[in-house]
Amino acid sequence: MQAFQFVEAQKPAELREVPVPDPGPGEVLIKIGGSGACHSDLHILEAPPKPGPKRAPFTLGHENAGWVEKMGPGATGFNKGDPVIVYGPWGCGLCMNCRVGRENYCQNPGNIKAGGLGSNGGMAPYFLVPSTRFLIPLGNLDPREAAPLSDAALTSYHAVKRSLHLLGAGSTAVVIGAGGLGQMAIQILRALSGATTIVAVDTSADKLKIAKSMGADEALLSGDLAVTRIKDMTKGLGAELVLDMVGVNPTLKMAGQLARVLGHLTIVGLGSGSVPVNFHGPAKECSVAAPYWGYIPELMEVVSLAQAGKIKMLVEHFPLERAPEAYHLLHDGRIQGRAVITPNG
Ligand SMILES: [Zn+2]
Ligand SMILES: [Zn+2]
Repeated sequence: MQAFQFVEAQKPAELREVPVPDPGPGEVLIKIGGSGACHSDLHILEAPPKPGPKRAPFTLGHENAGWVEKMGPGATGFNKGDPVIVYGPWGCGLCMNCRVGRENYCQNPGNIKAGGLGSNGGMAPYFLVPSTRFLIPLGNLDPREAAPLSDAALTSYHAVKRSLHLLGAGSTAVVIGAGGLGQMAIQILRALSGATTIVAVDTSADKLKIAKSMGADEALLSGDLAVTRIKDMTKGLGAELVLDMVGVNPTLKMAGQLARVLGHLTIVGLGSGSVPVNFHGPAKECSVAAPYWGYIPELMEVVSLAQAGKIKMLVEHFPLERAPEAYHLLHDGRIQGRAVITPNG
């Protein structure tokens, strides 16, 4: 089969011929419906070579949904043709965090693997998953549409849920960056906290328009004026929650100015900016955190939200042979929601 693979650092990914994997004991082979193209793939492709063991080539695609194709010996609980979404970060399964479904924070970090991030992912007709515990049934959802739930939505959901106690009536949540992740964060904020005022901030007027259509109360162009406006809206106090979906220096600077005393400043975007944290800023007792992905039970909750029609990703489909083009568009900021590769049509 053809697979879209990372071959070498700082080189474009390539379509290459690879064998269809056969599931071993406990493993499951998934026929891919959709595999999302994520900004973090661009970071992997564009970063300088990493020291340590060579992992390339491997198939990209860490945001996957499809249908069960073949169960390995001893694997039970699913049948051929079942639509499923795949939980991405694969831990040891045995440590304290893994046992409560927090495999993204496996305490045997050497054991964390993720298909598409260093080992074979879903940008190919078939994808090998090491255990049924990473599969969540999709019910009536179409895997081609649902794939981004496993990363874009789960990552946003986790970032919102950990701060939900701050978002009562009269509160304000700011989402910086209204691309795929930001659009999800807005919908999730709307779904989980009807009371909070949601402010979207972006450099693109088009994305702000989408943000409004997805539930943002205010949509502001990035910059000092946005900071002034949000300060005015919050009587000078700032926002309870600031989600930076970009994570570069200018957005983090804004985030640092916007988060209020006892608030949360949460860095979701992989931009390699930083924000100084010391006695003088951000606001007193404002917690600054950079979460990674989300938990297995949270992915189940995300699937429920999608089944209830409360969140929906804007998806643009690309057949496998057009994967290089999808990544070019993503690189140039020309994907409005999520580009999803559909290797099986
Ligand atoms: Zn990702
Ligand atoms: Zn573990």
